[in-house]
Amino acid sequence: MKQQLILSKRHWREMLDHVVREVPLEACGLLAGKNERVQKVIVVRNQAQSPARFVMDPYEQLRAFDWIESNGLDLLGIFHSHPAGPAAASVTDIAEAAYEVVHIIWSRGQNRWQARGFWIENGRASEVSLQIME
Ligand SMILES: [Zn+2]
Repeated sequence: MKQQLILSKRHWREMLDHVVREVPLEACGLLAGKNERVQKVIVVRNQAQSPARFVMDPYEQLRAFDWIESNGLDLLGIFHSHPAGPAAASVTDIAEAAYEVVHIIWSRGQNRWQARGFWIENGRASEVSLQIME
């Protein structure tokens, strides 16, 4: 399990822009990098086109995995949004977590978006610290 994930302000902004653009639908994407350091944000279309659920477009996801591998990086995280809350992993998120990566959940509370990181394993979500650097 990872204790933290390190992101740049640019990565943060790229995720936030995508999340805001997709409102009222849930948005999703992947984070690639090495160890705990994110190097690339890859947005992926939400095939479900739903405000309460996300399913990554399988073709875009496969292309992203190919890109990550061919650039010598690892999949570090998966992010998605909860446009109508809550700021935590849902029962579905926990049940469907298929990769041992940090799950970042964006939620909108009082008109301000926030993101929290979780490690999901054995049916439980524990918080992972997100460090934002220059
Ligand atoms: Zn969710």
